Amino acid sequence: MGIVGLPNVGKSTLFNALTKTAAAQAANFPFCTIEPNVGDVAVPDTRLDKLAGIAGSKQIIPTRMTFVDIAGLVKGASKGEGLGNQFLANIREVDAIAHVLRCFEDDDVTHVDGRVDPVSDADTIETELIIADMESLEKRLQNIVRKVRGGDKEAVQQERLMKMALEVLEQGKPARVVEVDAEDAKAWRMLQLLTAKPVLYVCNVDEGDASEGNALSAKVFEMAAEQGNSAVVISAKIEEEISQLDADEAQEFLGELGLEEAGLDRLIKAGYALLGLQTYFTVGPKEARAWTIREGTGAPQAAGVIHGDFEKGFIRAETIAYDDYVTLGGEGPAKDAGKMRAEGKGYVVQDGDVLHFLFNT
Ligand code: GDP
Repeated sequence: MGIVGLPNVGKSTLFNALTKTAAAQAANFPFCTIEPNVGDVAVPDTRLDKLAGIAGSKQIIPTRMTFVDIAGLVKGASKGEGLGNQFLANIREVDAIAHVLRCFEDDDVTHVDGRVDPVSDADTIETELIIADMESLEKRLQNIVRKVRGGDKEAVQQERLMKMALEVLEQGKPARVVEVDAEDAKAWRMLQLLTAKPVLYVCNVDEGDASEGNALSAKVFEMAAEQGNSAVVISAKIEEEISQLDADEAQEFLGELGLEEAGLDRLIKAGYALLGLQTYFTVGPKEARAWTIREGTGAPQAAGVIHGDFEKGFIRAETIAYDDYVTLGGEGPAKDAGKMRAEGKGYVVQDGDVLHFLFNT
């Protein structure tokens, strides 16, 4: 996930909290974070701890999500202002966008446009991304003219998709509103349009507004609903404080603030959902581990996430549903109760499955 937003909205504060490092410095100064900062973050999942407890696993290994703090977007970025094109190239590489919007008032923190208005900020950024997409499409359309004339099938498909995208972009809408058929899905993704990436709005509010949000974040939620996008409320400042506490202290602090769960946990989970990702588990006495797959992944491909050889030599997956594993009290009892299934190549892995792969070497 790429963290984007105008300068001084709290991106670095959030990124720091996410990665618990001081690597991305936060300062009241636009362009503070010049290099994109990359951090791997554990995906919180209480199911994993439960499974490990039942199996007595020595080690717990969560699955991870990579966050990139992308600085430098200002009005005019598509024209090369601020960090311009370098910034846009960084966005091309992410799977989804966490768009941080300033929903806090603070006279000590400069707003680049001199006023706090998250809906207008969102629009500023989206406009830059729309312009960038249009320019890159116009260039690419010119580049494939000859191939299209020559009847190159792939080029013809690309041209058709590019024109579909341009049509909505020219109306000031993001490419993500285009609905593409299954047979076009891959070629569409290959266009790597910035505005085709799924977006999650992150409303950064002051400490006092963390549990309920405020009038500004309410406006963002309204906008998100109209667009069919999702949004979360977070106080980057609180998250920064929490990231310096140990687990028990953090829980206590959250309780005092009237929060059930750290905002970062909600952010990571929302990102996971946005990307259509799921988790399956491998559980044994040595380790309990979570693995990430896309929804709809078949058993052999799921095995391939662990190792390519698992996919190549796949025989079957001994499968126990998470609920069965937990209610019956582990692998042995689940097996005795007839709840361990032998699933073959055609099986689509379900969220929470506890799997054991058998394969030929
Ligand atoms: P970035 O430019 O988007 O990366 O923004 P930073 O994370 O560097 O934050 C800019 C300034 O805003 C810093 O001084 C932060 O301490 C401050 N800041 C971030 N979040 C909040 C917040 O929720 N409330 C207040 N009052 N200040 C914040």
